[in-house]
Amino acid sequence: MRYEGKVYRPPSEARSYVVQATIGCSHNLCTYCDMYRGVDFRERAMEEVLEDVAVAGRLYADVEKVFVADGDALVMGVQRWVTLLGALKDAFPLLRQVGCYATAGNVIAKTDVELTLLREAGLTILYIGPESGDGETLRRLVKGGTFQDHVDAAKKAHAAGLQLSVITLLGAGGVERSREHARETARLVTEMDPEYLASLTLTIIPGTPLQRMVDKGRFELPDVPGLLTELRTIIDEARPSAALFRTNHASNYVPLGGSLPQDRERLVAAIDAALSGEIPLRPESMRGL
Ligand code: SF4
Repeated sequence: MRYEGKVYRPPSEARSYVVQATIGCSHNLCTYCDMYRGVDFRERAMEEVLEDVAVAGRLYADVEKVFVADGDALVMGVQRWVTLLGALKDAFPLLRQVGCYATAGNVIAKTDVELTLLREAGLTILYIGPESGDGETLRRLVKGGTFQDHVDAAKKAHAAGLQLSVITLLGAGGVERSREHARETARLVTEMDPEYLASLTLTIIPGTPLQRMVDKGRFELPDVPGLLTELRTIIDEARPSAALFRTNHASNYVPLGGSLPQDRERLVAAIDAALSGEIPLRPESMRGL
């Protein structure tokens, strides 16, 4: 098994076998992201990918979950996906989940029939990070998709039987659009109605366009109470029908978990306790990207 560059995967895929079918991200423009900066997007040669899967299958026959990297692997064509999913099924007899990162544009670019074909071939979950539901924030982040694009993508994915894990980003609107960011993100979560929901906290990474905006005084990250207030708004106002919620990513100040809608009051109370200093925040030294 061979990997090129840094390989990223969601926290919930920590125990998954990661196969790198693409290198980089075909969008690669989000202002806060340095994951694949300077990396030219490409699909790895299929023979190499299949060799890796075969080797992994011999070494780890008990694999149940596979994550297909890199940053928006859904962009691959359907034939390539079907070949890969078939190889994964052959290599791992206990396989029950295959996931990848996807942009709204990746989903919209595929037909309903194609998405259903991928689900039938074994793809089960898409990780989509709109980060915000606020149109102005999405535009400033150069996210490449609008509120409605993300709603349309979610509807298409669900219609094909795919599960969704939606990622939101506290602080993405800066101080200036903090309130709109939180409220519109809550509304987007309601509309996308994901099975899984995660909130990460924006970290300004040196070398990114966002860092340059900070340097020029054009972007200011909300303080910790401001970030927690955004989280409170998202939890309080979003109405997913049944979502497992997590803030277990290392970037967050308060690790929370629960089911929405059942645990809404408990989660909001925990955020209020953090805001009033009753429960400790994760120290800066323990936070990570
Ligand atoms: S789509 Fe994801 S991986 Fe690609 S640039 Fe944006 S945040 Fe980074």
